[in-house]
Amino acid sequence: MSVATSVSKLDVLVVGAGFAGAVVAERLAHAGRRVLVIDKRAHVGGNAFDEFDAHGVLIHRYGPHIFHTQSSRVFAYLSRFTTWRPYEHRVQALVNGSFYPIPINRSTINRLYGLALDEAGVAAYLAKVAEPREPVRTSEDAVLASVGRDLCDKFFRGYTRKQWGLELSELSASVAARIPTRSDDDDLYFTDRHQAMPAQGYTAMFERMLAHPRIDIETGVDYFAARTRWQPRLTVFSGPIDAYFDYCHGALPYRSLEFVHEHHAQSNYQHTGTVNFPNDHAYTRITEFKYLTGQQVAGTSVVKEFPRAAGDPYYPIPNPDNEARYQLYKAMARAERDVLFVGRLAQYRYYNMDQVVAAALKAARHVTGIDDEYTSLDN
Ligand code: FAD
Ligand code: UDP
Repeated sequence: MSVATSVSKLDVLVVGAGFAGAVVAERLAHAGRRVLVIDKRAHVGGNAFDEFDAHGVLIHRYGPHIFHTQSSRVFAYLSRFTTWRPYEHRVQALVNGSFYPIPINRSTINRLYGLALDEAGVAAYLAKVAEPREPVRTSEDAVLASVGRDLCDKFFRGYTRKQWGLELSELSASVAARIPTRSDDDDLYFTDRHQAMPAQGYTAMFERMLAHPRIDIETGVDYFAARTRWQPRLTVFSGPIDAYFDYCHGALPYRSLEFVHEHHAQSNYQHTGTVNFPNDHAYTRITEFKYLTGQQVAGTSVVKEFPRAAGDPYYPIPNPDNEARYQLYKAMARAERDVLFVGRLAQYRYYNMDQVVAAALKAARHVTGIDDEYTSLDN
Protein backbone atom coordinates (compact mmCIF):
# COMPACT_ATOMS: atom_id res chain seq x y z
CA MET A 1 0.00 0.00 0.00
CA SER A 2 1.14 3.57 -0.63
CA VAL A 3 3.31 5.27 1.95
CA ALA A 4 3.34 9.07 2.12
CA THR A 5 6.84 10.55 2.29
CA SER A 6 6.07 14.05 3.54
CA VAL A 7 3.99 15.22 6.49
CA SER A 8 0.40 15.23 5.31
CA LYS A 9 -2.51 17.14 6.71
CA LEU A 10 -5.60 15.06 7.26
CA ASP A 11 -9.00 15.48 8.78
CA VAL A 12 -8.90 12.24 10.70
CA LEU A 13 -6.29 9.58 11.38
CA VAL A 14 -7.77 6.32 12.65
CA VAL A 15 -5.33 3.93 14.30
CA GLY A 16 -6.57 0.36 14.03
CA ALA A 17 -8.84 -1.22 11.41
CA GLY A 18 -10.84 -3.41 13.78
CA PHE A 19 -14.48 -2.77 14.69
CA ALA A 20 -13.67 0.42 16.62
CA GLY A 21 -11.57 1.99 13.89
CA ALA A 22 -13.64 0.84 10.94
CA VAL A 23 -16.96 2.04 12.37
CA VAL A 24 -15.62 5.46 13.36
CA ALA A 25 -13.92 5.80 9.96
CA GLU A 26 -17.10 4.92 8.09
CA ARG A 27 -19.29 7.28 10.10
CA LEU A 28 -16.87 10.20 9.82
CA ALA A 29 -16.36 9.65 6.09
CA HIS A 30 -20.13 9.47 5.72
CA ALA A 31 -20.30 12.85 7.47
CA GLY A 32 -17.86 14.37 4.97
CA ARG A 33 -14.44 13.95 6.64
CA ARG A 34 -11.36 12.62 4.87
CA VAL A 35 -10.09 9.67 6.85
CA LEU A 36 -6.88 7.66 6.80
CA VAL A 37 -7.06 4.30 8.57
CA ILE A 38 -3.77 2.64 9.50
CA ASP A 39 -3.16 -0.75 11.06
CA LYS A 40 0.10 -2.38 11.98
CA ARG A 41 -1.23 -5.72 10.82
CA ALA A 42 -1.30 -6.64 7.13
CA HIS A 43 -5.10 -6.71 7.03
CA VAL A 44 -8.28 -4.99 8.15
CA GLY A 45 -10.80 -6.45 10.60
CA GLY A 46 -8.69 -6.47 13.77
CA ASN A 47 -9.26 -9.58 15.82
CA ALA A 48 -12.42 -10.39 13.88
CA PHE A 49 -10.38 -10.97 10.69
CA ASP A 50 -11.32 -14.14 8.81
CA GLU A 51 -9.77 -15.82 5.79
CA PHE A 52 -9.81 -19.02 3.77
CA ASP A 53 -7.13 -21.45 4.92
CA ALA A 54 -5.04 -23.63 2.60
CA HIS A 55 -7.92 -26.14 2.46
CA GLY A 56 -10.53 -23.58 1.47
CA VAL A 57 -12.17 -23.46 4.90
CA LEU A 58 -13.23 -20.04 6.21
CA ILE A 59 -11.44 -19.62 9.56
CA HIS A 60 -11.00 -16.87 12.14
CA ARG A 61 -7.26 -16.27 12.53
CA TYR A 62 -7.59 -14.77 16.01
CA GLY A 63 -10.05 -17.21 17.52
CA PRO A 64 -13.78 -17.82 17.10
CA HIS A 65 -15.97 -14.75 16.66
CA ILE A 66 -19.72 -15.20 17.02
CA PHE A 67 -21.85 -12.14 16.55
CA HIS A 68 -24.68 -11.52 19.01
CA THR A 69 -26.37 -8.37 20.19
CA GLN A 70 -29.41 -7.05 21.97
CA SER A 71 -29.10 -3.78 20.09
CA SER A 72 -31.26 -3.57 16.98
CA ARG A 73 -29.47 -0.35 16.06
CA VAL A 74 -26.05 -1.98 16.07
CA PHE A 75 -27.47 -4.84 14.05
CA ALA A 76 -29.15 -2.45 11.58
CA TYR A 77 -25.95 -0.45 11.20
CA LEU A 78 -23.81 -3.53 10.39
CA SER A 79 -26.55 -4.82 8.09
CA ARG A 80 -25.64 -2.01 5.69
CA PHE A 81 -22.40 -3.89 5.00
CA THR A 82 -23.40 -7.53 5.18
CA THR A 83 -26.22 -9.99 4.96
CA TRP A 84 -26.41 -12.54 7.73
CA ARG A 85 -26.57 -16.25 8.30
CA PRO A 86 -28.65 -17.01 11.39
CA TYR A 87 -26.47 -18.93 13.83
CA GLU A 88 -27.06 -19.92 17.43
CA HIS A 89 -23.93 -21.01 19.24
CA ARG A 90 -23.94 -24.11 21.44
CA VAL A 91 -21.07 -25.11 23.71
CA GLN A 92 -20.36 -28.30 25.61
CA ALA A 93 -17.82 -28.74 28.39
CA LEU A 94 -15.83 -31.92 28.93
CA VAL A 95 -16.05 -32.85 32.63
CA ASN A 96 -14.85 -36.22 33.98
CA GLY A 97 -14.87 -37.69 30.48
CA SER A 98 -18.42 -36.65 29.49
CA PHE A 99 -19.80 -33.68 27.59
CA TYR A 100 -22.31 -31.38 29.29
CA PRO A 101 -24.09 -28.23 28.16
CA ILE A 102 -22.48 -25.00 29.34
CA PRO A 103 -24.08 -22.63 30.43
CA ILE A 104 -25.19 -25.06 33.11
CA ASN A 105 -28.82 -26.03 32.47
CA ARG A 106 -31.31 -28.71 33.48
CA SER A 107 -29.64 -31.36 31.38
CA THR A 108 -26.21 -30.54 32.87
CA ILE A 109 -27.50 -31.03 36.41
CA ASN A 110 -29.59 -34.13 35.72
CA ARG A 111 -26.91 -35.96 33.75
CA LEU A 112 -24.03 -34.96 36.01
CA TYR A 113 -25.78 -36.07 39.22
CA GLY A 114 -28.03 -38.82 37.83
CA LEU A 115 -31.20 -36.87 38.65
CA ALA A 116 -34.49 -36.41 36.83
CA LEU A 117 -35.48 -32.95 38.03
CA ASP A 118 -37.99 -30.74 36.30
CA GLU A 119 -37.36 -27.02 35.93
CA ALA A 120 -38.63 -26.16 39.42
CA GLY A 121 -36.60 -29.03 40.82
CA VAL A 122 -33.42 -27.72 39.23
CA ALA A 123 -34.11 -24.22 40.55
CA ALA A 124 -34.61 -25.70 44.03
CA TYR A 125 -31.45 -27.79 43.68
CA LEU A 126 -29.41 -24.73 42.70
CA ALA A 127 -30.91 -22.71 45.55
CA LYS A 128 -29.84 -25.48 47.93
CA VAL A 129 -26.23 -25.78 46.71
CA ALA A 130 -25.63 -22.07 46.07
CA GLU A 131 -23.48 -20.24 48.62
CA PRO A 132 -25.00 -16.80 49.10
CA ARG A 133 -22.38 -14.05 48.92
CA GLU A 134 -22.96 -10.44 49.81
CA PRO A 135 -21.57 -8.38 48.22
CA VAL A 136 -20.73 -10.23 45.02
CA ARG A 137 -17.33 -8.74 44.18
CA THR A 138 -15.26 -11.45 42.53
CA SER A 139 -15.94 -14.10 39.93
CA GLU A 140 -15.69 -16.68 42.71
CA ASP A 141 -18.49 -14.88 44.58
CA ALA A 142 -20.58 -14.81 41.40
CA VAL A 143 -20.17 -18.51 40.63
CA LEU A 144 -20.56 -19.78 44.20
CA ALA A 145 -23.64 -17.62 44.68
CA SER A 146 -25.30 -19.10 41.61
CA VAL A 147 -24.19 -22.76 41.39
CA GLY A 148 -22.27 -23.62 44.56
CA ARG A 149 -18.90 -25.25 45.07
CA ASP A 150 -19.06 -28.54 43.19
CA LEU A 151 -20.25 -27.04 39.89
CA CYS A 152 -17.81 -24.18 40.40
CA ASP A 153 -14.92 -26.63 40.75
CA LYS A 154 -16.03 -28.76 37.80
CA PHE A 155 -16.86 -26.03 35.26
CA PHE A 156 -15.29 -22.71 36.29
CA ARG A 157 -12.25 -22.94 38.56
CA GLY A 158 -9.90 -24.79 36.21
CA TYR A 159 -11.04 -22.99 33.07
CA THR A 160 -10.53 -19.62 34.69
CA ARG A 161 -7.13 -20.52 36.11
CA LYS A 162 -6.06 -21.63 32.64
CA GLN A 163 -7.63 -18.75 30.70
CA TRP A 164 -6.45 -15.92 32.92
CA GLY A 165 -3.56 -17.33 34.95
CA LEU A 166 -5.55 -16.09 37.94
CA GLU A 167 -7.94 -17.53 40.50
CA LEU A 168 -11.66 -16.80 40.22
CA SER A 169 -11.25 -14.75 43.38
CA GLU A 170 -8.74 -12.47 41.61
CA LEU A 171 -11.15 -11.43 38.84
CA SER A 172 -14.11 -9.08 38.98
CA ALA A 173 -17.54 -10.69 39.16
CA SER A 174 -18.32 -9.47 35.64
CA VAL A 175 -16.00 -12.06 34.06
CA ALA A 176 -17.75 -15.25 35.17
CA ALA A 177 -21.09 -13.45 35.20
CA ARG A 178 -20.90 -13.53 31.40
CA ILE A 179 -22.04 -17.16 31.73
CA PRO A 180 -25.64 -17.48 32.97
CA THR A 181 -27.10 -20.39 34.93
CA ARG A 182 -30.35 -21.96 33.76
CA SER A 183 -32.86 -24.34 35.25
CA ASP A 184 -34.56 -25.01 31.90
CA ASP A 185 -33.30 -26.83 28.79
CA ASP A 186 -32.02 -23.77 26.95
CA ASP A 187 -28.60 -24.75 25.63
CA LEU A 188 -27.73 -21.60 23.67
CA TYR A 189 -24.51 -19.87 24.70
CA PHE A 190 -25.98 -16.42 24.10
CA THR A 191 -29.40 -15.02 24.90
CA ASP A 192 -29.33 -11.96 22.61
CA ARG A 193 -32.15 -10.98 20.27
CA HIS A 194 -29.83 -10.98 17.24
CA GLN A 195 -27.51 -13.95 16.78
CA ALA A 196 -26.00 -14.28 13.32
CA MET A 197 -22.78 -14.49 11.34
CA PRO A 198 -21.90 -12.17 8.44
CA ALA A 199 -22.88 -14.27 5.44
CA GLN A 200 -19.65 -13.72 3.50
CA GLY A 201 -17.52 -13.41 6.62
CA TYR A 202 -16.17 -10.55 8.73
CA THR A 203 -13.37 -9.46 6.39
CA ALA A 204 -15.82 -8.99 3.51
CA MET A 205 -18.00 -6.90 5.83
CA PHE A 206 -15.03 -4.72 6.84
CA GLU A 207 -13.99 -4.27 3.22
CA ARG A 208 -17.45 -2.93 2.39
CA MET A 209 -17.46 -0.69 5.45
CA LEU A 210 -14.13 0.81 4.50
CA ALA A 211 -14.83 1.09 0.76
CA HIS A 212 -15.95 4.70 1.16
CA PRO A 213 -14.35 7.14 -1.32
CA ARG A 214 -13.23 9.40 1.53
CA ILE A 215 -11.40 6.56 3.34
CA ASP A 216 -7.79 5.58 2.59
CA ILE A 217 -6.21 2.55 4.23
CA GLU A 218 -2.58 1.78 4.95
CA THR A 219 -1.87 -1.62 6.48
CA GLY A 220 1.47 -2.74 7.89
CA VAL A 221 1.98 0.69 9.51
CA ASP A 222 2.73 1.03 13.24
CA TYR A 223 1.46 4.34 14.58
CA PHE A 224 4.32 4.70 17.03
CA ALA A 225 6.93 4.29 14.31
CA ALA A 226 5.18 6.69 11.94
CA ARG A 227 3.18 9.22 13.96
CA THR A 228 5.23 12.24 12.84
CA ARG A 229 4.18 11.53 9.27
CA TRP A 230 0.73 13.07 9.73
CA GLN A 231 -0.81 16.18 11.20
CA PRO A 232 -4.41 15.11 11.63
CA ARG A 233 -7.06 17.41 13.06
CA LEU A 234 -8.34 14.40 14.97
CA THR A 235 -6.80 11.05 15.86
CA VAL A 236 -8.96 8.08 16.79
CA PHE A 237 -6.81 5.55 18.62
CA SER A 238 -8.02 1.96 19.06
CA GLY A 239 -4.76 0.31 20.19
CA PRO A 240 -3.75 -0.30 23.83
CA ILE A 241 -4.15 2.91 25.83
CA ASP A 242 -1.07 2.27 28.00
CA ALA A 243 1.12 2.04 24.89
CA TYR A 244 -0.20 5.40 23.67
CA PHE A 245 1.02 7.04 26.88
CA ASP A 246 4.30 5.15 26.82
CA TYR A 247 3.34 3.06 29.87
CA CYS A 248 3.89 6.06 32.15
CA HIS A 249 1.62 4.57 34.83
CA GLY A 250 2.99 1.07 34.27
CA ALA A 251 1.78 -1.56 31.82
CA LEU A 252 -1.90 -2.51 31.91
CA PRO A 253 -2.14 -6.30 32.07
CA TYR A 254 -3.68 -7.95 29.02
CA ARG A 255 -4.07 -11.69 28.57
CA SER A 256 -2.79 -13.23 25.37
CA LEU A 257 -3.57 -16.42 23.49
CA GLU A 258 -1.82 -18.65 21.02
CA PHE A 259 -4.13 -19.95 18.34
CA VAL A 260 -3.26 -23.37 16.97
CA HIS A 261 -5.15 -24.04 13.77
CA GLU A 262 -5.58 -27.60 12.51
CA HIS A 263 -7.22 -29.15 9.49
CA HIS A 264 -8.74 -32.61 9.56
CA ALA A 265 -9.80 -34.76 6.63
CA GLN A 266 -13.05 -35.96 8.19
CA SER A 267 -16.17 -33.90 7.56
CA ASN A 268 -16.68 -33.06 11.25
CA TYR A 269 -14.26 -32.99 14.19
CA GLN A 270 -16.68 -32.54 17.10
CA HIS A 271 -20.41 -32.50 17.67
CA THR A 272 -20.92 -28.78 18.35
CA GLY A 273 -19.35 -25.40 17.50
CA THR A 274 -17.18 -25.16 20.60
CA VAL A 275 -16.05 -27.65 23.23
CA ASN A 276 -14.66 -26.20 26.48
CA PHE A 277 -12.03 -28.04 28.50
CA PRO A 278 -12.21 -26.70 32.05
CA ASN A 279 -9.98 -29.39 33.54
CA ASP A 280 -8.16 -31.18 30.71
CA HIS A 281 -5.42 -30.07 28.31
CA ALA A 282 -3.41 -26.86 28.12
CA TYR A 283 -5.94 -25.27 25.80
CA THR A 284 -9.25 -23.86 26.98
CA ARG A 285 -11.46 -24.71 24.03
CA ILE A 286 -11.69 -26.10 20.51
CA THR A 287 -13.90 -24.43 17.94
CA GLU A 288 -14.88 -26.00 14.63
CA PHE A 289 -15.51 -23.23 12.14
CA LYS A 290 -17.95 -25.04 9.84
CA TYR A 291 -20.61 -24.89 12.53
CA LEU A 292 -20.22 -21.12 12.77
CA THR A 293 -20.03 -20.34 9.08
CA GLY A 294 -22.31 -23.05 7.69
CA GLN A 295 -19.74 -23.64 4.97
CA GLN A 296 -20.23 -26.86 2.98
CA VAL A 297 -16.74 -28.15 2.29
CA ALA A 298 -14.85 -31.44 2.45
CA GLY A 299 -12.62 -31.65 5.52
CA THR A 300 -12.86 -29.39 8.52
CA SER A 301 -10.72 -26.81 10.34
CA VAL A 302 -10.57 -26.19 14.07
CA VAL A 303 -8.70 -23.85 16.39
CA LYS A 304 -7.33 -24.60 19.84
CA GLU A 305 -6.78 -21.65 22.19
CA PHE A 306 -3.72 -21.76 24.44
CA PRO A 307 -3.69 -18.91 27.00
CA ARG A 308 -0.41 -17.01 27.28
CA ALA A 309 0.98 -14.35 29.61
CA ALA A 310 2.91 -12.63 26.81
CA GLY A 311 1.99 -11.91 23.21
CA ASP A 312 -0.60 -9.79 21.40
CA PRO A 313 -2.98 -8.17 23.91
CA TYR A 314 -6.34 -9.91 23.47
CA TYR A 315 -8.15 -9.58 26.79
CA PRO A 316 -8.14 -6.71 29.30
CA ILE A 317 -8.08 -8.34 32.73
CA PRO A 318 -10.98 -7.01 34.81
CA ASN A 319 -10.12 -6.50 38.47
CA PRO A 320 -10.00 -3.48 40.80
CA ASP A 321 -6.21 -2.92 40.60
CA ASN A 322 -6.20 -2.91 36.82
CA GLU A 323 -9.27 -0.67 36.72
CA ALA A 324 -7.54 1.82 39.03
CA ARG A 325 -4.51 1.90 36.76
CA TYR A 326 -6.76 2.29 33.71
CA GLN A 327 -8.46 5.26 35.34
CA LEU A 328 -5.05 7.01 35.49
CA TYR A 329 -4.71 6.56 31.75
CA LYS A 330 -8.32 7.53 31.15
CA ALA A 331 -7.72 10.84 32.93
CA MET A 332 -4.77 11.47 30.61
CA ALA A 333 -6.89 10.48 27.62
CA ARG A 334 -9.52 13.05 28.59
CA ALA A 335 -6.87 15.76 28.68
CA GLU A 336 -5.34 14.74 25.34
CA ARG A 337 -6.40 17.29 22.76
CA ASP A 338 -7.93 16.03 19.54
CA VAL A 339 -7.52 12.34 20.30
CA LEU A 340 -10.33 9.89 20.96
CA PHE A 341 -9.77 6.48 22.52
CA VAL A 342 -12.23 3.86 21.32
CA GLY A 343 -12.33 0.06 21.51
CA ARG A 344 -11.54 -2.94 23.66
CA LEU A 345 -7.84 -2.10 24.10
CA ALA A 346 -8.18 1.70 24.17
CA GLN A 347 -11.02 1.64 26.72
CA TYR A 348 -9.65 -1.38 28.59
CA ARG A 349 -13.05 -3.01 28.58
CA TYR A 350 -13.94 -6.69 28.09
CA TYR A 351 -16.18 -5.68 25.19
CA ASN A 352 -17.89 -7.98 22.75
CA MET A 353 -17.97 -6.88 19.12
CA ASP A 354 -21.39 -5.28 19.38
CA GLN A 355 -20.31 -3.25 22.40
CA VAL A 356 -17.33 -1.95 20.43
CA VAL A 357 -19.62 -1.01 17.55
CA ALA A 358 -21.89 0.83 20.00
CA ALA A 359 -18.90 2.65 21.55
CA ALA A 360 -17.63 3.61 18.09
CA LEU A 361 -21.04 4.92 16.98
CA LYS A 362 -21.13 7.00 20.15
CA ALA A 363 -17.64 8.38 19.49
CA ALA A 364 -18.62 9.27 15.92
CA ARG A 365 -21.66 11.12 17.16
CA HIS A 366 -19.47 13.01 19.61
CA VAL A 367 -17.27 14.18 16.71
CA THR A 368 -19.93 14.99 14.14
CA GLY A 369 -22.69 16.12 16.44
CA ILE A 370 -24.98 14.21 14.07
CA ASP A 371 -27.62 12.09 15.69
CA ASP A 372 -28.66 9.50 13.15
CA GLU A 373 -30.73 6.37 13.40
CA TYR A 374 -27.69 4.34 14.51
CA THR A 375 -26.24 6.54 17.20
CA SER A 376 -28.91 6.31 19.84
CA LEU A 377 -27.75 3.23 21.63
CA ASP A 378 -30.84 1.91 23.31
CA ASN A 379 -32.40 -0.80 21.17
P1 FAD B 1 -9.16 -4.94 17.70
O1 FAD B 1 -9.99 -5.86 16.89
O2 FAD B 1 -8.09 -5.49 18.58
O3 FAD B 1 -8.51 -3.87 16.69
C1 FAD B 1 -7.51 -2.99 17.08
C2 FAD B 1 -6.56 -2.86 15.91
O4 FAD B 1 -5.59 -1.84 16.22
C3 FAD B 1 -5.79 -4.13 15.61
O5 FAD B 1 -6.02 -4.55 14.28
C4 FAD B 1 -4.33 -3.74 15.84
O6 FAD B 1 -3.45 -4.33 14.92
C5 FAD B 1 -4.37 -2.23 15.65
N1 FAD B 1 -3.32 -1.55 16.36
C6 FAD B 1 -2.99 -1.66 17.67
N2 FAD B 1 -1.91 -0.89 17.93
C7 FAD B 1 -1.56 -0.29 16.77
C8 FAD B 1 -0.53 0.60 16.41
N3 FAD B 1 0.40 1.03 17.29
N4 FAD B 1 -0.44 1.02 15.11
C9 FAD B 1 -1.34 0.59 14.21
N5 FAD B 1 -2.35 -0.27 14.50
C10 FAD B 1 -2.45 -0.70 15.76
N6 FAD B 1 -16.65 -10.70 20.55
C11 FAD B 1 -17.89 -11.12 20.25
O7 FAD B 1 -18.82 -10.30 20.17
N7 FAD B 1 -18.17 -12.44 20.02
C12 FAD B 1 -17.18 -13.40 20.05
O8 FAD B 1 -17.46 -14.59 19.84
C13 FAD B 1 -15.86 -12.98 20.37
N8 FAD B 1 -14.87 -13.89 20.44
C14 FAD B 1 -13.61 -13.46 20.73
C15 FAD B 1 -12.59 -14.43 20.78
C16 FAD B 1 -11.30 -14.04 21.07
C17 FAD B 1 -10.22 -15.10 21.15
C18 FAD B 1 -11.00 -12.66 21.29
C19 FAD B 1 -9.58 -12.24 21.60
C20 FAD B 1 -12.00 -11.72 21.24
C21 FAD B 1 -13.31 -12.10 20.96
N9 FAD B 1 -14.35 -11.17 20.88
C22 FAD B 1 -15.62 -11.59 20.60
C23 FAD B 1 -14.10 -9.73 21.12
C24 FAD B 1 -13.82 -8.98 19.82
O9 FAD B 1 -12.63 -9.51 19.22
C25 FAD B 1 -13.62 -7.51 20.14
O10 FAD B 1 -14.73 -6.98 20.83
C26 FAD B 1 -13.41 -6.65 18.90
O11 FAD B 1 -12.75 -7.30 17.86
C27 FAD B 1 -12.62 -5.43 19.35
O12 FAD B 1 -12.49 -4.51 18.29
P2 FAD B 1 -11.45 -3.32 18.45
O13 FAD B 1 -11.49 -2.55 17.18
O14 FAD B 1 -11.69 -2.60 19.72
O15 FAD B 1 -10.03 -4.02 18.66
N1 UDP C 1 -15.82 -19.68 32.02
C1 UDP C 1 -15.53 -20.85 32.72
N2 UDP C 1 -15.88 -22.04 32.16
C2 UDP C 1 -16.47 -22.13 30.95
C3 UDP C 1 -16.77 -20.95 30.26
C4 UDP C 1 -16.42 -19.74 30.81
O1 UDP C 1 -14.95 -20.79 33.80
O2 UDP C 1 -16.76 -23.25 30.49
C5 UDP C 1 -15.45 -18.39 32.66
C6 UDP C 1 -13.98 -18.07 32.38
O3 UDP C 1 -13.47 -17.29 33.43
C7 UDP C 1 -14.09 -17.27 31.10
C8 UDP C 1 -15.32 -16.42 31.39
O4 UDP C 1 -16.20 -17.33 32.08
O5 UDP C 1 -12.93 -16.51 30.85
C9 UDP C 1 -16.02 -15.82 30.20
O6 UDP C 1 -16.29 -16.86 29.26
P1 UDP C 1 -16.57 -16.51 27.72
O7 UDP C 1 -16.91 -17.79 27.03
O8 UDP C 1 -17.53 -15.40 27.64
O9 UDP C 1 -15.12 -16.01 27.25
P2 UDP C 1 -14.60 -15.44 25.85
O10 UDP C 1 -15.44 -16.04 24.77
O11 UDP C 1 -14.68 -13.97 25.94
O12 UDP C 1 -13.18 -15.93 25.82
